Amino acid sequence: MSDLRITVDGSERSVAAGTTGADLWPGDRSVIAVRADGELKDLGYDVQDGSVVEPVVSSSPDGLAILRHSTAHVMAQAVQQLYPDAKLGIGPPVENGFYYDFDVAEPFTPDDLGRIDKRMQQIIKDGQSFSRRIVTEDDARAELADEPYKLELIGLKGPGAADAAEGAAAEVGGGELTIYDNVAKDGSLVWKDLCRGPHVPTTRHIPAYKLMRVAAAYWRGSEMNPQLQRIYGTAWESRDALKDHLHRLEEAAKRDHRKLGTELDLFSFPDELGSGLAVFHPKGGIIRRVMEDYVRRRHEEEGFSFVATPHITKQELFETSGHLPYYADTMFPPMEMEGAHYYLKAMNCPMHNLIFRSRGRSYRELPLRLFELGAVYRFEKSGVVHGLTRVRGLTMDDSHSYVTPEQANAEIKHLLGFCLSLFRDFGLADFYLELSTRDAESDKFIGTDEQWEIATATLEEAAVESGLELVPDPGGAAYYGPKISVQARDAIGRNWQLSTIQYDFNMPARFGLEYQAGDGSRQQPVMIHSAKFGSIERFLGVLVEHYAGAFPPWLAPVQVVGIPITDEHVPYLQSVAAKLRAAGVRVEVDESDDRMQKKIRNAQRQKLPFMLLAGDEDVAKDAVSFRYRNGEQKNGVPVDDAVAEIVKAVADRVQV
Ligand SMILES: [Zn+2]
Ligand SMILES: [Zn+2]
Repeated sequence: MSDLRITVDGSERSVAAGTTGADLWPGDRSVIAVRADGELKDLGYDVQDGSVVEPVVSSSPDGLAILRHSTAHVMAQAVQQLYPDAKLGIGPPVENGFYYDFDVAEPFTPDDLGRIDKRMQQIIKDGQSFSRRIVTEDDARAELADEPYKLELIGLKGPGAADAAEGAAAEVGGGELTIYDNVAKDGSLVWKDLCRGPHVPTTRHIPAYKLMRVAAAYWRGSEMNPQLQRIYGTAWESRDALKDHLHRLEEAAKRDHRKLGTELDLFSFPDELGSGLAVFHPKGGIIRRVMEDYVRRRHEEEGFSFVATPHITKQELFETSGHLPYYADTMFPPMEMEGAHYYLKAMNCPMHNLIFRSRGRSYRELPLRLFELGAVYRFEKSGVVHGLTRVRGLTMDDSHSYVTPEQANAEIKHLLGFCLSLFRDFGLADFYLELSTRDAESDKFIGTDEQWEIATATLEEAAVESGLELVPDPGGAAYYGPKISVQARDAIGRNWQLSTIQYDFNMPARFGLEYQAGDGSRQQPVMIHSAKFGSIERFLGVLVEHYAGAFPPWLAPVQVVGIPITDEHVPYLQSVAAKLRAAGVRVEVDESDDRMQKKIRNAQRQKLPFMLLAGDEDVAKDAVSFRYRNGEQKNGVPVDDAVAEIVKAVADRVQV
């Protein structure tokens, strides 16, 4: 047999023909697949002469996707063994897990999941191998005659298949059709599925998984199609990794801002208003007010002028801006009035352009920075509406900087610095940037190649100078220009997209914006869109989750609660509260009939930053006792010192 020259892990070596990935890393059970010349392949793949081959370990992103998708196969096998009439949809890996869709007469119950889980454990123990087989389209049709959904995917094979349904690429995305057989140790065929692969070598290579939940899902995402039952699961490279994941989910559930929003009486989503439309209760209203005061003051300091614009406008304005038709499906439908169509405002920019254009502008006025807390309405699909983080009515801290092209770089740096300092004040300190650029193949983006190049280079330069990690996001730009977005990591390591800074050469042209340059000529300004919080609603939702509802004193709706040892101490605590109130502190005294221990528990449940207790001894010494969130107590603190400690914690925006 002739030898093959291949590159393994960066070094060249020669191997016998017929060598597979499994031969290259013998005995290493963490290697579950290979990447050959950039393409993922089964571990049993025959390496080719001249190939560059790398191992794919189960804990890597690619490895996890393969592991999870293989677990989906095991689940589907279990389902079809227990429910022989179940027809297969698709079963791709998703973030942190996998799913598989089934057409079954009855939705799966928790009992069903238990049975499926048991069966899966048996399949994993059996150590079936995943065996790849190339088939012709006719053979595939014959073998899968009882699987109507698979047949539909076979018909779509080719470039269209990947778009057939989210995840369909996993089935038929490759150039050739393949079927994977699950083969028992005695060589008998147990089960098979149309699939592109790759998979783990055997079911024994699935160390840890868990079935999570069942949801209904339409075939290929369309309500016109049959409704299937989707089982979600998760799978990991080790039992410990699975345990950590389940712990993170538990943490996230505890922090869910929708749950805390109710418990802390911050906001709600009344059915009467409709999906994605929030009302803020008095306590949520205080947090909003603190955020708004902060962001207004900061914009003033950063050189912005304040403007105000209405909630609705005639259709023509959004045609001029280009939002219609590009953005039409995310806007509320128009209202007809006095022979004109009016739209709810989905963005503030066009109105700010009218303010810029309202009179002649000179280069001396630039940068001209307009700011507004602007309420906008967006038609998010009901499936994606989520608490405060995806809403249909939101308030943007929206600004537009009109600059000369030469000023653009400095302005972007200015805005980026502004955003980061704002997040630090709100307790977020771990960021990276994403640079969203156009997809040159798509017709969604307007403007010339040169304009896009200049805009992208200007943003990239400012982003690189910030020294933060920069992640590319090709194709993610707005239709009118590229953008930088600031992604912040929260207390449990989740990333949230917050601020955006967009470079726009299109809208100034569409609105005919101009200024008189130093040489007297008329020039077109560049417009830089930026939102710092993004939206007040979303940022508030993120803060609730980041702090798990235990806000730092400066944001807490109630900063201090006075708790009397007995009713006799109420008047004394009222006098302490009056001093705090005079110093600008939000304070309440608990005068309820509850006993002291119950009052303390209530304050803890409300996650209040400071409790001040007072009994006879405190009254005699003109003092109070602190009780902190962590349960620590500090007794006999003179009232003036207590007031000073609280005022300082608020002013310094520290967490306590
Ligand atoms: Zn597969
Ligand atoms: Zn804008």
